[in-house]
Amino acid sequence: MNETDYTEARRKMVDSQLRARGIHDPGVLRVMEDVPRHLFVPPDLVNQAYDDRPLDIGAGQTISQPYMVALMTELLAVEPHHRVLEVGTGSGYQAAVLACLAREVITIERFERLAREAAGRLRDAGCDNVRVLVGDGSAGAPDHAPFDRIIVTAASPSIPPSLKKQLAPAGRLVCPVGSRQAQRLIVMDRGDGVFEESEGVGCVFVPLLGKEGWSKDD
Ligand code: SAM
Repeated sequence: MNETDYTEARRKMVDSQLRARGIHDPGVLRVMEDVPRHLFVPPDLVNQAYDDRPLDIGAGQTISQPYMVALMTELLAVEPHHRVLEVGTGSGYQAAVLACLAREVITIERFERLAREAAGRLRDAGCDNVRVLVGDGSAGAPDHAPFDRIIVTAASPSIPPSLKKQLAPAGRLVCPVGSRQAQRLIVMDRGDGVFEESEGVGCVFVPLLGKEGWSKDD
């Protein structure tokens, strides 16, 4: 495939996988049409980069399905002045999407190798407002807090208390919450002294492993 083929594959992906399923935010649709997802998948899977499913990226982890990336990004309601924390860098693709919408993105990954590879891809894609950290993101990134938006791209048994603490006033957090087998997307808003939660669609993510997520033995 050449660049024209990839551009056409992205246009089709946006029409048939995103618009057709109700993604409507013009900024999110534009970014999903612009970001070269094929640069964020392993070389042997580039021909499947725009398929309607998650793909393996090594270390037993996945790059999420395009629809899930778009849905979580739409729910996050990112504005150009926002600082965003992503927990679960994986391939770096979700961070690249967020980088086009936010002022700054901090993304944290527990696997050193995945973090290093993602940082390289983000650099190659020209995302110079993204910083990749290695560590247990279930405890957030306290040295960089507060964040206007927090997105967790791994499944948690509940919303990690540290992430709630690191949310700025009027901040929003999106996180898949549930069992290790199946979750629902939870949107949490920080209001005037209170947190409000709403429950969204069902989903299946790899586990958030860490102090405030699942333990390896759960
Ligand atoms: N957002 C990613 C992308 O665009 O490719 C997909 C994320 S993948 C579904 C979930 C990622 O969360 C995996 O790379 C996994 O290693 C990471 N992860 C799991 N627990 C973590 C933790 N406590 N801290 C940081 N990353 C974690």
